[in-house]
Amino acid sequence: MSSNARIILDTPIEYLKGVGPVKADLLKKELKIFTYKDLLHDFPFRHLDKTQFHKIREVNRSYEYVQIKGIINKVQILGNARKKRLSAVLKDDTGLMELVWFKGITWFEKNIVPGMEYIVYGKINVFNGRISIPHPELELASKVKEQQSHFAPVYHSTEKLSAKGLDAKGRRTLIKNLFEVIKEDLVPENLPDYLLDKMDLITRFEAFKNIHFPSNKDALEAATLRLKFDELFFFQLRLIQLKSKRKKNLKGYHFQELGENFHLFYKEKIPFELTGAQKKVIKEIRADLGSGAHMNRLLQGDVGSGKTMVAVMSMLIALGNGYQACLLAPTEILAQQHYKSFLENLEGLGIEIAFLSGSVKGKKRKVLLEDLATGKINILLGTHAILEDPVKFKNLGLAITDEQHRFGVAQRAKLWHKGLSCPPHILVMTATPIPRTLAMTSYGDLDVSVIDELPPGRKLVETMHKTEANRLWVIGFIKKRIAEGRQVYIVYPLIEESSKLDLQNLMQGYESLLRDFPKEQYQISIVHGRMKAADKELEMQRFVKKETQIMIATTVIEVGVNVPNASLMIIENTERFGLSQLHQLRGRVGRGADQSYCILMTGNKLSKEGIERIQTMCRTNDGFLIAEADLKLRGPGNVDNTQQSGFDLFKISDIVKDHALIKTCRQLAIRIIEKDNTLEHPLNIKLKNFLEANYQLIKGWSNIS
Ligand code: ADP
Ligand code: MG
Repeated sequence: MSSNARIILDTPIEYLKGVGPVKADLLKKELKIFTYKDLLHDFPFRHLDKTQFHKIREVNRSYEYVQIKGIINKVQILGNARKKRLSAVLKDDTGLMELVWFKGITWFEKNIVPGMEYIVYGKINVFNGRISIPHPELELASKVKEQQSHFAPVYHSTEKLSAKGLDAKGRRTLIKNLFEVIKEDLVPENLPDYLLDKMDLITRFEAFKNIHFPSNKDALEAATLRLKFDELFFFQLRLIQLKSKRKKNLKGYHFQELGENFHLFYKEKIPFELTGAQKKVIKEIRADLGSGAHMNRLLQGDVGSGKTMVAVMSMLIALGNGYQACLLAPTEILAQQHYKSFLENLEGLGIEIAFLSGSVKGKKRKVLLEDLATGKINILLGTHAILEDPVKFKNLGLAITDEQHRFGVAQRAKLWHKGLSCPPHILVMTATPIPRTLAMTSYGDLDVSVIDELPPGRKLVETMHKTEANRLWVIGFIKKRIAEGRQVYIVYPLIEESSKLDLQNLMQGYESLLRDFPKEQYQISIVHGRMKAADKELEMQRFVKKETQIMIATTVIEVGVNVPNASLMIIENTERFGLSQLHQLRGRVGRGADQSYCILMTGNKLSKEGIERIQTMCRTNDGFLIAEADLKLRGPGNVDNTQQSGFDLFKISDIVKDHALIKTCRQLAIRIIEKDNTLEHPLNIKLKNFLEANYQLIKGWSNIS
């Protein structure tokens, strides 16, 4: 871009014809529009189709916006007091339709001239089978010239903006004024011809022009496609380039062999046959570790898919090459559980395994840290305490984090620095399935492995929705399961660890439970966030050892607890949980051979979204489907795993709906980077320049996952 072009695009918005200091202030405050360029990029969120006229008789409830030419008559005020409205009848040569106003009644009554021909535009409303248009846009037909009919853009506006004349019409005028200044040379092409041809795209300038003022539907579609392509393609190009640079430049420890223990474990110790998916993933990890490059891999696998075994075997490779390994879990309970299962799994192999959390103190801690630094300890399992500075390894070769969304980017960065001459290989395990679209965007620069198969013999959890009216039935259902020798989880929501109300809720639940399940007959464990770690652990253990039949808890049991004998989960106040959280919770049951159940308790009043969530849960056990549904319901910005992922970059594309385009862009980007990873080739120079000018300063895009 020429410097002249940049100067014009960066011109403060107050200098645009029709703006001035007052409106400029509002544009900045309300819409973050500071410069000409910002205004150019503030795309309309929809267009009014004013290219055609409708006849009153053809309009039915399937229409949304209509434009009708007709004569207005019978303007009258109907109803009284708060139900007062202005009504008018619009008539064309096919029929009659009512127009209604609830606001500005006096003004419209004064200004509408009965008997004149108007062009009426608006969204239809159907009431008692009759169609009307509330608050239509009106213009005298005699004042509208034929060539004025077009797709009119509609921009985001606010009341304050409207009050200062920047309503729908005012915003349109601004853009018109902008295009008097902005000519083709200011919006140079950023795509090489070969891409324009291949994708059949219009030029960048045309796209900007037509997104604001398309002459027809096709022009609007072409502009939308072109601008979506820009957003998605350059994003992918950047990710793929980062990934390729990392692979080329970042050296990793070279694990040349698997080691004796790996073979021994695989032949003699492994307690079950690995699933095909586990084998596939272990192969992928093994290839990474043996490549000489640094591994930065995300491992996705639904709850219960057997990620732990993948972690164990990956660690054995690190150990087999003389290196140490560590695993971080988000909670003490989960870390403890890993510790125990590692001890069991790796027994008799001469491997030194240690546990570290905030609760390991004093002399014990001191000795542990020494043994870690000298290399006496081979595997360290624990909580984020592992990340603290005094924790020094002799030679950490592989670091694994479990349940990834609980660790922030900064925390993972600390892991990188625990390496000696280069960062340890990183494996990030998550049980929250990430929809493919998200995986391609938020984790586009990571390698991704997926365990898409559960160990054999798992039964689907039968899920039911119940309300307070069914409470007695639910209690009976619990008693039946206990009579069969099974155990039961009852989970209460806990949004914040410190929320008093949530705790009260849980304690009330506990007390009423004591009435239905008297102490003489039933034993109940209780675990919540306010308890000391040791007490929680004790209660957990009582449940694990089957000393208690019911475990009542807050979401602390969300991740990782493994009690195959538990075959029923009751979730209280289900409406307060997110979909992926519910799926995680349900994953705690269905681990044994018996039929398991999940009961979702809610109040009687549910939001539309709440109903959708419950129905999704009752319909499917598939984590990927649930994650997709979650993404659709909540939008990408709110789904776990997507914070810090730069979604505000996407102004016009929608990572759910534009899945196919994302895929195309990614494939194009991969092919281009494969051949020309620095984008030096003359054919790619436009790409390089555009990337450097626009995609440098995005936060969080370091080589840390
Ligand atoms: P998650 O992926 O949720 O961490 P885990 O690793 O805890 O799952 O595994 C869940 C359960 O499945 C454990 O009891 C584990 O021993 C068992 N398991 C894992 N892999 C297999 C397999 N291939 N065959 C049978 N059981 C398995
Ligand atoms: Mg796990």
